Amino acid sequence: MDRYAVIGNPIAHSKSPSIHAAFARQTGEVLEYAACLAPLDGFVASVLAFRSEGGRGMNVTVPFKLEAFALANRHSPRAKAAGAVNTLAFRGDEIFGDNTDGAGLVRDLTHNLGVGLRGQRVLLLGAGGAARGVILPLMAEGPAALTIANRGVDKARGLCEQFEPAAGETRLAAAALADLSGPGYDIIINATAASLANEAPAVPTEVYSNCALAYDMMYARGETAFMRAARAGGARRCADGLGMLVEQAAESFLLWRGIRPRTTEILAELRRQMSSG
Ligand code: NDP
Repeated sequence: MDRYAVIGNPIAHSKSPSIHAAFARQTGEVLEYAACLAPLDGFVASVLAFRSEGGRGMNVTVPFKLEAFALANRHSPRAKAAGAVNTLAFRGDEIFGDNTDGAGLVRDLTHNLGVGLRGQRVLLLGAGGAARGVILPLMAEGPAALTIANRGVDKARGLCEQFEPAAGETRLAAAALADLSGPGYDIIINATAASLANEAPAVPTEVYSNCALAYDMMYARGETAFMRAARAGGARRCADGLGMLVEQAAESFLLWRGIRPRTTEILAELRRQMSSG
């Protein structure tokens, strides 16, 4: 049986095994998908051991996405742009690295939430691995403006410089979180790790005023701290990142198996399971 796994540390919380098991049932693909806990200093050894035991591919999560990028000997253009890999495919001697996070986010926004990006003014909060991975796919949708804001403005500026050549008609700008002002944003995406500490990023409240969608890449049983802050600040609609999680998984499944699973029912079932505890 073809074997796949998600690798990370910690990993016990991962929803990927149940998502991929549901994809396999739905598509009739025969495969096994496990969770692999790698020691913090043992990522490469764990991946190579899995491959030598016949593994066909892996999803990579915190904190190994940069190491996965370094390990891959061929990269998709979107992984190159992100400088991070969340999907590995083993093909003979080749270790192919891809990054499906951005495609997952865009698909969740446009397909599941019905929010188009063309002509919109988008604010991306954060400049870490997740932010890097979504900039190119977001710009490919043709927003009028994309502002990248971070606590440390230098990282945001660095991303602007890196992605400027690919910006096309999108106006790219960098800002420090604390210097943001608003209203003026249609879509606000939280790619900071603040929600992991149950905090909202420290931005002036008026930034959220009248924005059409405030989207947190983090997901939780109820609303995240970011979603609560955005709603209180006047965001008209809020969403969490559970849909992005399912969509990035579907994109990995497509890479490995050549078939894209339907995500709607699986996302709804996951949401039901989460809300019932
Ligand atoms: P990184 O550690 O690479 O980056 C963290 C970013 O968050 C940095 O920009 C950092 O700013 C900022 N940050 C951290 N704490 C705070 C805070 N208290 N207030 C404001 N900014 C803060 O993390 P990732 O980019 O890998 O992940 C970010 C989030 O995205 C996580 O919550 C993760 O769970 C989520 N994610 C969700 C996915 C999904 O499928 N739904 C996929 C990938 C990620 P600074 O540079 O100033 O330190």
